[in-house]
Amino acid sequence: MPTVYDLTRDQLTDRLVSWGEPAFRGKQLWTQLWKRAATYDQMSDVSPTLRERLASDLPLGVEVLDERTADKGATRKSLLRLGGKHVIETVLMGYRDRVTVCVSSQVGCAMGCGFCATGQMGLESNLTAGEIAAQVVWARREAARLPESTPRRLSNVVFMGMGEPMANYRPVRDAVTRLMDPTGMRVGARHITVSTVGLVPGIRRLGNDHPRVSLAVSLHAADDELRNELVPPNRMHPLAELEAAIAAWRERTRRRPTIEWAMIDGVNDSDEQAGKLAPIAYRLRAHVNLIPLNPTPGWSDRPSSTPRIESFVRVLEAGGVNVTVRDTRGRRIDAACGQLRLGHEFGSA
Ligand code: SAH
Ligand code: SF4
Repeated sequence: MPTVYDLTRDQLTDRLVSWGEPAFRGKQLWTQLWKRAATYDQMSDVSPTLRERLASDLPLGVEVLDERTADKGATRKSLLRLGGKHVIETVLMGYRDRVTVCVSSQVGCAMGCGFCATGQMGLESNLTAGEIAAQVVWARREAARLPESTPRRLSNVVFMGMGEPMANYRPVRDAVTRLMDPTGMRVGARHITVSTVGLVPGIRRLGNDHPRVSLAVSLHAADDELRNELVPPNRMHPLAELEAAIAAWRERTRRRPTIEWAMIDGVNDSDEQAGKLAPIAYRLRAHVNLIPLNPTPGWSDRPSSTPRIESFVRVLEAGGVNVTVRDTRGRRIDAACGQLRLGHEFGSA
């Protein structure tokens, strides 16, 4: 069943008019749904009869099945059922200065990166635009429950949950459009980041459709031989083609891309790899984000040691590259990057 978040404002109004409601009801409801992130129960200006009909015919489409917290409540991973059937994970992360939600774009992922828990489960299905956006609306409501050490207001949206956004491009594009809608949530484009494994056509389309949205590319290897192994889609879009696509995106958008790199002990963390990455990142004026590998059930490699990471960083910095090491927050609840996967952690609860 489609969720109410799958409808445009006009479609919502048409539906209400077909139920015999006045046209202004559509606008009123739209504001409640998107701007106030209200649930039907919270809409005191809507009659109980209408609220009941809405809940049954146009559900919000988000059910919380389970929840885990870490970092004194500042990181929360939730298992959600969307649209009555798609079970995914959404992670809310409260920092001192911002609150970020990490959303899923697919149930599982077909890209086959072996070190990633979502990749290990394969692709089950795509999410709709409404199901993607509904995670953000839900997160805006939930942000109020975060600890006082955070702003308790949702500020950032990252497409780094389950799935490959560019493999479900149109719904992702439409969800971004809805999130930015000035009559709704008004999330600023700069506060939205789409992360991709490197599907070249998607990078091009995102640059054209949403030129102010940020782009992160998961590189993980700086030569085709290693990248073919770690990131199978590289066989379709090898490094030279990917670099050209990111360069074109940069030209088009005038934005600085991010390169993500999982640091895997003895696999891609050598000074040699850093030496190959440095000129690529330099040419792209990219910011490099190193993520120490998070453990997953189907992969036995270890995260790189701290001295190794430091050495890698030194090589990049010597090459004039801007680099940070991402915090591994949420690791204890398996909410860290690449650990999102159905069932296994929640299932044992
Ligand atoms: N499919 C997209 C977005 C989801 S993955 C992509 O691959 O970019 C979000 C990030 O987590 C990606 O950079 C991904 O490479 C990284 N990641 C996946 N598994 C990981 C793991 N086990 N440890 C650390 N990072 C991981
Ligand atoms: Fe899919 Fe991204 Fe995981 Fe690769 S890292 S399997 S693209 S979710």
